[in-house]
Parts: sequence; C-alpha cells; structure tokens
Amino acid sequence: MDTLLPADQALARHALTASANAYAQYSGFAVGAAARMRNGAIHLGANLENASYGVAMCAEVSAITAANTSGSLDLEAIAVVGHRFTPPIVADQVVTPCGRCRQLIFEASQISGVDIRVISCSADLEQIDVSPISILLPSAFGPRAIGLDQDWIGMRATLAERVRVLQAQLVQKD
Ligand SMILES: [Zn+2]
Repeated sequence: MDTLLPADQALARHALTASANAYAQYSGFAVGAAARMRNGAIHLGANLENASYGVAMCAEVSAITAANTSGSLDLEAIAVVGHRFTPPIVADQVVTPCGRCRQLIFEASQISGVDIRVISCSADLEQIDVSPISILLPSAFGPRAIGLDQDWIGMRATLAERVRVLQAQLVQKD
C-alpha cells in the first residue's frame, strides 16, 4: 500500500468502500471497484448477482458503466477489491478483473488513449498488484484493430445533438 501513489491508495480505499454495496447473496463474495477519470472524477461499482446466476454483473462493469453514464470513458485507473464476507471469511487474497472485465477495461483504454492502470487489491489492502491493462490482456482485440478508436468522440457529439433534437420536439408537444 505504501508504495502506491497517494491517488491510487485513495482509489483502493474507494473500491473497498464500494464493496459494502455489493448484492452478493449467492456467493457471499463482495467486490468493489473504483474508476478514476483523467479529470480526477471517481465512479464506483459493486457486483450485482442474480437468482439466475449467469446474469450476475461484476463490480468493474458497474464502475465503468457509471463512468460512461456520466458522459465519458476517459479512464486512467481502476481499483478492484474483493472479499468473502460469509464464513469462511477471506480478506487476504488479491482479486484481479475477470477476462470479460479486462476486455471492457481495454476498450476504455483505447478510447481514452491511456494504458489504464489496474490496481488489484486484497480486501485488507495488504496485497496490491498494479499492472497496466496491456499486461493483463496482452495482444488484445479492440476498437483500434477495426479502425474505430478515433471515431467515438465525434459520434458521442452526434448522439448528444440527436438527443437535444428529440428533447426539443418534446417541448414543442407540451
Ligand atoms: Zn468481471
């Protein structure tokens, strides 16, 4: 923990805090994630399970979705903390993003242009692994591979304008 940048230490603590909001009644395993944007904003996520087990969503999905919903995928770092909170309690194991989440983080890295730092932590924050997503997901497939890593900012502006037009039409109907 002490070797981490202060901002990354804070991000790890945010991820631990977010794990308190996990909906994890099937696994008893709570995961929290905290994504930091290049502008310093932090978005939290927690795992969300379901009686139909395969529908469960990871904490990282939740945090990245929250970031995107705020208007940008401009991530620079994401911290992940996981712990088993029902017996046998486990808090000393480093939890890393699953394969699907690595793919989501990689997509964001090609949109943000930042090799996103992934801070994988044990819940006691004694064990922390810091790796760029390019190491966690080598030879990854992403938007750059299909020539679409530069288009989204312009498309997002187009989308925003389209929504403004639809909203203006609603006002005219009122
Ligand atoms: Zn995952």
